Amino acid sequence: MTTAAERVRVAGVEVSPDHFIGGERVASPRRFEDISPITNEPIAEVSRAGEAEVDAAVRAARDAFPGWAALGPAGRAPYLHRLADLIDANVERLAAVECMDMAMLLRSLRARVIRRGARNYRAYADLAASYEERDWRSQGTWNRVQRMPAGPAAIITPWNAPFMLSTWKTAPALAAGCTVVLKPAEWSPLSCSLLADLVAEAGFPPGVFNVVQGIGEEAGAALVAHPLLRRVSFTGSPETGRSIGVAAAKNLVPFTAELGGKGPLIVFEDADLDAAARRAAGQYDDAGQVCLAGTRLLVQESVAEEFLELFHRYADEHVLGDPRSEHTTVSPLIHPDHLRRVEGFVERARREGHRVLRGGRRSPAGPLFYQPTLIEPLSNDAEIVQREVFGPVLTLQTFADEEEAVSLANSTEYGLSGIVYTSSMGRADRVGRAVRAGVVWVNTFLVRDLTAPFGGMGISGIGREGGDYALDFYSDLKTLQILEGSTR
Ligand code: NAD
Repeated sequence: MTTAAERVRVAGVEVSPDHFIGGERVASPRRFEDISPITNEPIAEVSRAGEAEVDAAVRAARDAFPGWAALGPAGRAPYLHRLADLIDANVERLAAVECMDMAMLLRSLRARVIRRGARNYRAYADLAASYEERDWRSQGTWNRVQRMPAGPAAIITPWNAPFMLSTWKTAPALAAGCTVVLKPAEWSPLSCSLLADLVAEAGFPPGVFNVVQGIGEEAGAALVAHPLLRRVSFTGSPETGRSIGVAAAKNLVPFTAELGGKGPLIVFEDADLDAAARRAAGQYDDAGQVCLAGTRLLVQESVAEEFLELFHRYADEHVLGDPRSEHTTVSPLIHPDHLRRVEGFVERARREGHRVLRGGRRSPAGPLFYQPTLIEPLSNDAEIVQREVFGPVLTLQTFADEEEAVSLANSTEYGLSGIVYTSSMGRADRVGRAVRAGVVWVNTFLVRDLTAPFGGMGISGIGREGGDYALDFYSDLKTLQILEGSTR
């Protein structure tokens, strides 16, 4: 490890390209290149952690843990509130850097995505502080359930919403009394570095919040295998989730995973077809790089033609371009490797004879753009239906009745999210209950109550985030029993 490098200027903002360990900026002699999807050019040479940096970060988190845990939820809450206020005060800087680093639309980042980070810290500061230990009498004893902070936690996040997802995971961990080592994804590492600056400014004790930058197979793998950790929390692909789960199991450390999705968007003949078609075309937002997206359009046969006409009309309105422009609705893909991956899915689908109804090629809008694409598969077992593409690629299938709709909806290994369009309350209830997914929205999308459970079924995840569910994960739940009448 070496002393920190110069800060780099990204979108006019100074950002450290280094780790944040024990309250200090620390650099690695090895670096990796961070490319902006907007320009397809490097914007930073970022420190590339190996085992030594990871070990230093985990030890810093371990050393800071007793003091942070001893503060109790009420003692920790002011730190989280200060951090939330600083996020709100720095929305412009955070949004500008994240936009340059991963190309989410600047106006979405400014209006809601960055502010959601502040909401996450506020919500968890308040939730943890209002937790009441449960007391009751049984079998001649007083019982009490206590939440004890678990210890240092590893938090590994993906590239597609790096700031929001890192706050969503570190907020409950910190509120519950864990200390954290966060490893952001190597394709969009910079907004988490700015978050570390704000943590320092909020006055968190050194070592409570650490960031290590690096490559998944190196820094990530070294982190999740570290024996001093007491929790591992991961968001990313099912493939990586499996290997991280194995590493956590070897150390007998509880593990939670939010993984990929292949959500159905089901449109019944009684639905507001215009709203449903607009929502379906909206699944191209963020270039389809959204785990919760409804990428399998399932439409009742009787209205399929009308729906498709409306869908094309809304999809035609999309503007591919620079995510900093007010007019852009679809941004470039994150990285050349990811573009090739998306392209590979569509090429294989074409070769297998599935019908490409729109798009299906790279777009001339820029080096990393792919056209919003719609594919009508020949059968439900096609790869394009069964596997997450994580790009602007949707499939279209039709169904005869409710039973077939539910059967198609539940026919993949994933189970993260679902969207249903219907005007019938009975159908909303029946289908909503029958779809096997962690969250089902009816006639809406992406509305989130932070106290509700969030997570996936099947290969979409293990465990639940949100509300008390996440606080329980970052705690060791304990029962204390005292014989009645034995103490005064
Ligand atoms: P990924 O699995 O490739 O990487 C995620 C993170 O894991 C990165 O930080 C990476 O560096 C790290 N990593 C990679 N290999 C590792 C290893 N062997 N050990 C430890 N860490 C390792 O995922 P991605 O491509 O960054 O993200 C896209 C995926 O994330 C999609 O499948 C998407 O659906 C999913 N996702 C899920 C949610 C959710 O809430 N369920 C949210 C966003 C994204």
